[in-house]
Amino acid sequence: MESKLKFNIQAESGNARTGHLQLGSRTATTPMLVQTGMVPAILTSGELTALGTQAIKQSALEYWLRAQGQPEQLGFADIHEHLRWPGIVVGASGADQAYRWAKPRGRKKTGVSFHEPATGQQKMYTPQLAQQWQRLLGCDLLVGFARWEDYYAPVDDLQAAAQQTAEWLGMDKQSLNTLAPVVGGGLKRVRQASVAAAQATHPCGYALLGIDGAVKLAEQRRVIGEIVAMLPTEGLRYLPACGALEQVLMAIAQGMDIVDSDCAATTALHGTAYLGTKRLHLTQEHLAGDSRILVPGCQCPTCQAGYSRAYLHQLLQEQSPVGVRLLTVHNLFVLNQLVDRLRQAIAAGRLAELMADLAIDY
Ligand SMILES: [Zn+2]
Repeated sequence: MESKLKFNIQAESGNARTGHLQLGSRTATTPMLVQTGMVPAILTSGELTALGTQAIKQSALEYWLRAQGQPEQLGFADIHEHLRWPGIVVGASGADQAYRWAKPRGRKKTGVSFHEPATGQQKMYTPQLAQQWQRLLGCDLLVGFARWEDYYAPVDDLQAAAQQTAEWLGMDKQSLNTLAPVVGGGLKRVRQASVAAAQATHPCGYALLGIDGAVKLAEQRRVIGEIVAMLPTEGLRYLPACGALEQVLMAIAQGMDIVDSDCAATTALHGTAYLGTKRLHLTQEHLAGDSRILVPGCQCPTCQAGYSRAYLHQLLQEQSPVGVRLLTVHNLFVLNQLVDRLRQAIAAGRLAELMADLAIDY
């Protein structure tokens, strides 16, 4: 049974806002990060919760392929139970992945046809399957199916993708908690048409698709600002794209309520720790003899346990998974703390000052 979504905006500062999100018995404070990619693979549910994580992401496509399209092969009735995760689960259709696997002729009116890399089997993934499987998993928020195109694709392709996405959106009755996809690369009028088509279905919110890490930060800022200006205030705004720490904070300052994030882990995998919005590269030779705690004064479990820079340097040199875990814990703690500071600054009407302090353009 789908739980009704309630979203109350409590304060605004410029484009940014902070609010309260209720999804049945689960609640969250926005802006909210959705941990995705390697983060839920490196940390346990208990660790994620203790570090202040409110939401994780799961892809319907992945489970559909794993269960070979058979719901009874899933091995669980609810994804929260399966993962032992008490927080919010944000669904992904996984259509972007399917499109990346597909050849140009795989782009059909009914969905996307592709060869599954693991098995070589031909598959046909449709908007109906994406919705059905996000519901089967028990996702608290769903994202509508969209025809994927590269951000810098030719105008005709971006237009065709927006048209096809709009048709699909209007064709099926969407689940109550579905965020409508907004596509169109960097083209204002295509995004505008996509917003209009989405708005006609009276969605609870909007997912700004295709603005990924390959798009330069200044261009992301421009396009996000442009789309936010087109959206109704009351709808949730979701950026399901992962980038660096600076992108996450900029997207929140530009008015996103929900932002995907995997930078705590990707940064840790590079042997790097956050020092606020700055970086400490632990692979540097001179840190081999640095007995100081990773970040003195930091309240994260890694720093509180007293792990030194020299030991973390050694773990990374040995390519120990423990080193990456300890750094991911620290990075996620710092990231969540920064987002919390943004929430407080928005509530106090002092976001501009904080962003200047953090030296992040938005
Ligand atoms: Zn720390």
